[in-house]
Amino acid sequence: MIEKIYGGIEAGGTKFVCAIGRGREILEKTVFPTTSPDETVQKAIHFFQNSNRLNRLAATGICSFGPIDIHRRSATWGYITTSPKNGWSNIDFAQRVHRQLKVPVAFDTDTNGAALGEYVYGAARGLDNFVYLTVGTGIGGGGMVNGKLIHGLVHPEMGHIRIPHDWKEDPFPGSCPYHGDCLEGLASGAAMELRWGLPPEKLPLNHPGWELEASYIALAINNFICNTSPERVIVGGGVVKNPVLMPAIRRRVERNLNKYVRSDAIIKDIDNYVVLPALGDLTGVIGALELAKRIELNYKRETI
Ligand code: ZN
Repeated sequence: MIEKIYGGIEAGGTKFVCAIGRGREILEKTVFPTTSPDETVQKAIHFFQNSNRLNRLAATGICSFGPIDIHRRSATWGYITTSPKNGWSNIDFAQRVHRQLKVPVAFDTDTNGAALGEYVYGAARGLDNFVYLTVGTGIGGGGMVNGKLIHGLVHPEMGHIRIPHDWKEDPFPGSCPYHGDCLEGLASGAAMELRWGLPPEKLPLNHPGWELEASYIALAINNFICNTSPERVIVGGGVVKNPVLMPAIRRRVERNLNKYVRSDAIIKDIDNYVVLPALGDLTGVIGALELAKRIELNYKRETI
């Protein structure tokens, strides 16, 4: 029997990663910047169409920035809906991929996809309750509760929660076009660049902006710990590549909780509780391949 292979698209606000693979083995991969919706989605489709493995592709998984429509029976299933990203509102994405590649297509948020990748192969293996937060150009969150990816009315929007904003300490009004100073508006890479005039990767490691960033991310994590009681919190995305940030976040998470949540995981082992993704930069696209595998196995039921 020929082993099945899958397609995966990690659709981010800054770049797209497309891959063909099986499990965590990547056979082909490409990365390109996110430009206009038409050009970017078509480029992703062409990557698969131009592969000599196309006829062996059993399904494709997409994990996308959002907000997105994940309800299979909705007319706009597979659309990017009210995205604050310029030009990306109301965009047919997964249906277009399905029409052109003619294979089952799974569609979920970028963070749920990454969470699934970490659950199967990475930092969340063996854990049925965890949060995956990504801090990049935007901020998003997903994860599992009781072994299932979190879905509901739509999908979690952890990047748009409200956190305390001390206007004296931080007079920056926030960058979210919908809410101003929500978490994403205060702490995303885009917000950091607007506030400091430099993108996070160019902000010096000793810049006071990093302590402020750590305080916002820690407050958000405290909320998620209190909401869903995760067994681990994974923090990915370009902004946390700064080596001083994660230790500062952990310190603050512990301090903010003030030993109220009585768990040794937090009180004695915070370094293994708030962690980076184990799959590194491949987390998202491996998650997309896993979504594809699951939709193919369950396609007749039209659900994952
Ligand atoms: Zn917002």
